[in-house]
Amino acid sequence: MQKTLRIKLPKGKRVAVSLGIDLDGQTIWEGAYGMTSPAALAYGEFGAEVGTPRLLDLFDKYKIKTTWFIPGKTADTFPDACKEVIARGHEIAHHSYYHRNPANMSYQEEEAVYKKALDSLARIGANNIRGYRSAYWDFSPNTLKIIEKLGIKYDSSLMANDFYPYYPRTMEVREDGGNIFKETSNIVEFPPSWWLTDFPFIAHTPGKLENMRPTEELYNRYVSNYDYAANKCPNSCWCLTSHPQTMGRAHEIQMYEDLIRYLESHGAWFATMGEMYDACYSEDDK
Ligand SMILES: [Zn+2]
Repeated sequence: MQKTLRIKLPKGKRVAVSLGIDLDGQTIWEGAYGMTSPAALAYGEFGAEVGTPRLLDLFDKYKIKTTWFIPGKTADTFPDACKEVIARGHEIAHHSYYHRNPANMSYQEEEAVYKKALDSLARIGANNIRGYRSAYWDFSPNTLKIIEKLGIKYDSSLMANDFYPYYPRTMEVREDGGNIFKETSNIVEFPPSWWLTDFPFIAHTPGKLENMRPTEELYNRYVSNYDYAANKCPNSCWCLTSHPQTMGRAHEIQMYEDLIRYLESHGAWFATMGEMYDACYSEDDK
């Protein structure tokens, strides 16, 4: 059975909330779509140099510290924007180097890419990285083993739960019968969700991603999803993923502020994922 964890909350709080930010910069267009045109690069530049300062100011206003997942290439391309995130007291986590899907990488290639990313993060002053998020929220069969070897303590990519952290397991896939769970990892998984993110629903890249949805649709889904966690799932976590290139846009960031106010008034404990990791306990330990 899946082994889950609970989160010890400060008195009066109902859910641990991670407002994690993926500062992809230009890598999402390069890594996902293979686009390096000036227009595509400009979308990423907006995220790093316009959206990021807006989000940092908003977090300062509400005294929120969160976790920023930054690809190594973004740290190399936009070092000043990334250093500002550190200067404002946020946690930095690993988000690959090129933002390429690791699913079909060889062990050696994947390990080399992750080491390269750690070197880039160290150059902007981010050391002792404890968290990892894969590009596309996808894994290769070796990902867990590699990140554990690199000293990573928690991941936020897999969705075998929604409101409780858990220990992910490797699996043997069989064609002639049931699949078999193998080793349980020591990595703690904080599940993100395709329904708790912004980019796929509000970004627009002609010919690639054309799905501009109304801002209130996101808000309503986020609130409804959060309410379930707050009302039905004690000592749980709620992990939202936002991107400066989308949530940093004027209409979205005003909705985001409304959302922060809603969460704040409904029992959210805003925490970095590192703080959530430190607050985890097993039901067996009680
Ligand atoms: Zn990303």
